[in-house]
Amino acid sequence: MTGVPEWVDGNDIAGATRELFAVDLTVARGRCATCGREAMVAEAHVYDRAPGIVARCASCESVLLRLVRAPDRAWLDLRGLSYLEVPIPAPVAPAAMPVVA
Ligand SMILES: [Zn+2]
Repeated sequence: MTGVPEWVDGNDIAGATRELFAVDLTVARGRCATCGREAMVAEAHVYDRAPGIVARCASCESVLLRLVRAPDRAWLDLRGLSYLEVPIPAPVAPAAMPVVA
């Protein structure tokens, strides 16, 4: 045992997840966990006439994602996707560079 903790709390991924979810997810590609179809999120069948949004696979109609929004929070369920590939720009400088006016 080295005395170095093996894990840190979830606050450590704040920057990485903020970058990930500050993009347009409709251009992300995902794989349906049920049938294996790979497609852009924009190709999913979205049902939005309910309290939440449900996106279903265009091939097998399985639920890919669910999103429920409240005034001060949101719930996102992505278990219908075996992966989600999100295009993000390459970093141009150290991540947390201060802005100079
Ligand atoms: Zn499917």
